[in-house]
Amino acid sequence: MTIKEYVAYRKSELTSLIKELNPLPKLVIIQVNEDEASMAYIRGKIKDLQTIGASFEHVKLPLDISEEELLKVIDKYNNDDTVDGILVQMPLPKGISEEKVKEKVIPVKDVDGFHPMSKYIPCTPKGIIDYLENEKIAFSGKNAVVIGRSNIVGKPMAKLLLNKNCNVTVLHSKTTKEDLEFYLAHADIIVVAVGKKYFLENQKFKEDAVIVDVGINRVDGVLYGDCAPDRKVRLQTPVPGGVGLLTRLSMLENLLLCYKERRGK
Ligand code: NAD
Repeated sequence: MTIKEYVAYRKSELTSLIKELNPLPKLVIIQVNEDEASMAYIRGKIKDLQTIGASFEHVKLPLDISEEELLKVIDKYNNDDTVDGILVQMPLPKGISEEKVKEKVIPVKDVDGFHPMSKYIPCTPKGIIDYLENEKIAFSGKNAVVIGRSNIVGKPMAKLLLNKNCNVTVLHSKTTKEDLEFYLAHADIIVVAVGKKYFLENQKFKEDAVIVDVGINRVDGVLYGDCAPDRKVRLQTPVPGGVGLLTRLSMLENLLLCYKERRGK
C-alpha cells in the first residue's frame, strides 16, 4: 500500500471512531511565529482535524510574548478539561526556551510526544514504525541504520527499532564517509533524517533494503528528500507525500490516545 493509500485508510478509520465520541476530541494549537513553513504545517494539521471530525482551537500569540506569559497560556489549557491535546508549533521566538515549553505541556495532553515523561511516541518515528508494520517489514534481527540523532526523530526512532529487536546503528555528523558506506551496505532498514538534499545517492544498498526518507529540504521552492529518488531497493518512501503524511497521521492518533487516557474511554 502506498503511504497515501495507507494514510487515507487510517484516517477513514479515525473518522468512524470519532463519530461515536461525545464530546469530540479537541486539540489546541498554539502558534508564536509567522514562519511560512509553520503556517503550512498548521494549515495541514487543521485540514486533517476537520477531515476526521475532531474539534480544535488555533491560538495565535503575539511574537513579543514573554516566556512566562506563554507558559501561563499553556497552563490554562493544561487545566482546561475540554482540551484533550496541546501542540505548540515550533520554532519559538528567540529568548523562549523550547525545552521549558515542551516540558510545560502536561504529558497526558502531549500529542507531539515531546515531554520527557510523555506517554506518547513522537509523531514521526511512530508513523514510520506503524507504516512499516502495515507493510509487513520484518524487524527482528535485521540491521537498522538511523542517520541523524535529533531528539524528535533519530533518537526515538533508534529506540523503537531496538524495541523491535533490530540491530541498530545510529550515524551522525561525526560519522566518516567510509563508515557511512560500510553500514549502509549491510543495512536492511535505513532511516535518514539529516536535512541535506540527496545526502544518500550513489552509495551501495542491499536490493531488499527499505529506505525511509525523513528529510524535507526546500530548494528554490521545490521539496527534496535526503535520498535521491528511485534507488534500487525493496521500498523507498517518497518526498513529498511520504513521512510528512505519516507524521501528520500520528498526531491525530496521539490525540485520540490522549482523549481515551484522560477520559477513561
Ligand atoms: P536536525 O536538523 O536536528 O539534525 C540533523 C541531524 O543530522 C543531526 O543529528 C546530525 O548529527 C545529522 N547529520 C548532519 N550531518 C550529517 C552527516 N554528514 N552524516 C550523518 N549525519 C549527519 O534533525 P531533525 O530535526 O531530525 O531533521 C532532519 C530532517 O528531517 C530535516 O530535513 C527536517 O526538516 C526533516 N523532518 C521531517 C519530518 C517529517 O515529518 N517528514 C519531521 C521532522 C523532521
